Amino acid sequence: MLKVELKDGSIIEVESGKLVIEVAKELSPSLAKKCCVAKLNGKLVDLKAPIVEDSKLELVMFTDPEAFEVINHSCAHLMAQAVCRLYPGTRMGVGPAIEEGFYYDFSIPTAITNEDLPKIEAEMKKIVKENIAINHYMLSKADAKKKFGSDKFKCELIDAINDDMVGIYEQADYADVCRGPHVISTGIIKNFKLLSCAGAYWRGDSKNEVLTRIYGTCWATEEELKNFLAILEERKARDHRKLGKELGIFMFDELVGRGLPMWLPNGFIVRRKLQDYIMDKEYELGYKHVMTPCIGNVELYKTSGHWAHYKDDMFPKMDVDEESYVLRPMNCPHHMVMYRSTLHSYRELPLRIAEIAADFRFEASGALTGIERTRAFYQNDSHIFCTPSQIGDVFKEVTKLILDVYNDFGFKNYKFRLSLRDPNDVEKYFGNDELWERSESELRQVLNELGVDYYEAIGEAAFYGPKLDVQVRSAIGHDVTLSTIQLDYQLPERFELEYIDEKGQKARPVVIHRAILGSMDRFVAFLLEETKGIFPVWLAPVQVKLIPVNLEYHKEYTDKLFAMFKKAKIRAEVDYRDEKLGYKIREAQMKKIPYQLVIGDNEVNNNTVTYRKYGEQQQVTVSVEEFIEMISKAEKEMK
Ligand SMILES: [Zn+2]
Ligand SMILES: [Zn+2]
Repeated sequence: MLKVELKDGSIIEVESGKLVIEVAKELSPSLAKKCCVAKLNGKLVDLKAPIVEDSKLELVMFTDPEAFEVINHSCAHLMAQAVCRLYPGTRMGVGPAIEEGFYYDFSIPTAITNEDLPKIEAEMKKIVKENIAINHYMLSKADAKKKFGSDKFKCELIDAINDDMVGIYEQADYADVCRGPHVISTGIIKNFKLLSCAGAYWRGDSKNEVLTRIYGTCWATEEELKNFLAILEERKARDHRKLGKELGIFMFDELVGRGLPMWLPNGFIVRRKLQDYIMDKEYELGYKHVMTPCIGNVELYKTSGHWAHYKDDMFPKMDVDEESYVLRPMNCPHHMVMYRSTLHSYRELPLRIAEIAADFRFEASGALTGIERTRAFYQNDSHIFCTPSQIGDVFKEVTKLILDVYNDFGFKNYKFRLSLRDPNDVEKYFGNDELWERSESELRQVLNELGVDYYEAIGEAAFYGPKLDVQVRSAIGHDVTLSTIQLDYQLPERFELEYIDEKGQKARPVVIHRAILGSMDRFVAFLLEETKGIFPVWLAPVQVKLIPVNLEYHKEYTDKLFAMFKKAKIRAEVDYRDEKLGYKIREAQMKKIPYQLVIGDNEVNNNTVTYRKYGEQQQVTVSVEEFIEMISKAEKEMK
C-alpha cells in the first residue's frame, strides 16, 4: 500500500497503480465531479494518472485558477478535432492555452474566415455531446512519426522533442502530440466560444508557411464565459482606434506613412487643451518652455551615447553637405546643449527646461498600435538641472505634480514603481556609489513622506541613474506607463555640464528627465479608452451642438446664439442640414457632444436655450447668459 498525503494534511492508503480519479471518487463522488486535474507531488497530472509511489495529492477544481489553462488547452484539442472532421486533409501546427483562452494553428485545405467559426463551434458541440474519453499514452519517437507521418508540422515538432518517448493524447478519431494535462473527456468542455481567425507564420518565422490561427476561449461556468464576452465587447467599444475614427480625432494613411498619425480638427483641440493644461501647470512651477528642432546632427547623438546604445530604435541617418542628420528619438541632447550655452550659478538651479517635443522612433510595423504606439509622437518632456543636494526636493516637486495631474483627471488606479540599481552589479551602473546610495534613499524617503503607494524594483534602474515610473490602469484593465522621473548622472558628464557652486568652484549638475502626460499621443489614446470618448466639457472638441427645429423660422436666433458662444470661447457647432430633427439629435449623441441645444419657438420667443446634457434625458431651459456661464465654469473647473 502507498501513502498519499492530501491537501488537508491527512494521509490515506491506496494500492499502487490506483488512478487519481478513483481516489477522488472514494473521497467524495460529488467532489470528483468538480475535479479538473490534480497535482501529484507538485506536478499537474490528468485525473487518469496512476499513483505509483508515496505521494502528495492535491485535487484541482474547475474553479481553481490552474484549471483555466487545462480546460483551454483541452478546448484547443476539441476545436482541432472539429476542424479535422470538417476539413479533411487539415494539418496541425501548435495549439496552446494563452492568457485569456487558447488558439490552434492549422493548415486547412479550404480558406476559412470568421464566418466559418459558428460551423466549427457547432461541430465542437457535437463532439462534446459524444462525450469521448480523452486518453494519454507514450510512443517512441519513431512510432509517433509513423502515426503523424502525413502531417509535416507534427513531424517537425516530434523531431524537436529531446526525449526518446513522446506523449500522445487521443480522443477517438483525433490524436495530438502533447504534454497535457487534459480533462478526462470531451463532455466536460462546455462553455466556450471561438473568437476570431488570423494568419500566423509556422513557428513565428516570416519565411515559413502562413497558417490559419483560430482563437477561442473556454471557461468553467457559463456565467464566467458570459462575463468575459461582455468584457471583450467593452474593450471593443473602448478601443481608441475605433473611437478616434468615430469622433474625428486622428487618422492614418499609408500614403503618408505607417505609424504617422495626423490629428484632425477635433483631435487638435483635445491636444491643444492638454498642452495648455500641462504647460500652465509647469509655468506655475517655474519651468521654462523652449522649442528645438526635431532632427539633430549624428555627432550630437554620439556625444549623448544614443548613437551607440539606441541606434536600432532610430531612423537611419541622412547625409547632407558635410553633415549627417538623424530624426531625434528623444530631445534630451538638445536641452543639454542649450544648458551648456551659458554659464550657470548654483542660484539659478534647479533650472527646468521643458518642451512638448516631437520625437521619432523606429517601431516595427507589427508593434504599431493606433496613436498608442507610433513612429512620430510628442513628448511632454522636461529636463531639470540641479545640484546633487537638490535631488530630493526636485523629485518631490515632480512626484507632487504627477499626483496633482492624476487628481485633475480623476485617475485612481495607478502604481508607482521605483527602479533601483542592483548594488552587486558593478558593471552595469554608471557613477559613484555614494551618489547612488544617497539619491536612492532620498527618493524612497520622498515617496514615504508623500504617502505614495509604491514598490521597489531592484536592478531595474537605467545604467545612468534610478527612476520612478507610473503605470496607470484604464477602465478595461489596460496598464499604460504615463509618467516617468529619471535621475541621470551620465549626460552631464558626456556634455561636460557645469555650474558655479557656493564656493565659486565649477561643479557638475545632475539631470532629471521627467514626463508627466508622457507621450501626448499615447495620453489621448489612454483618455479615449478611459472615457469611452465621453470627454469632459473642458476637453470636448465640440462642447455644444445647436439644432434649430425649423431652418427658416429659427435660423436667425440660432445664428445669434452661435456668435455669442464663439465670443465666449465656447466650442459650438450648428447643424443646418436638411435632416429630421430626431436624426440630428441622435447624431449629436453618437458624437458624444456634452450639450445639445434644440432651438424652437419657445427659445426664440423667450430668449432662452433648452439643453440636454449627454447621457441624461432631462431637458432644462435657462437664459442664454446662464448657459454661457455654466459652460465657462465647467471649462475653468476642468469639469
Ligand atoms: Zn495539446
Ligand atoms: Zn530626457
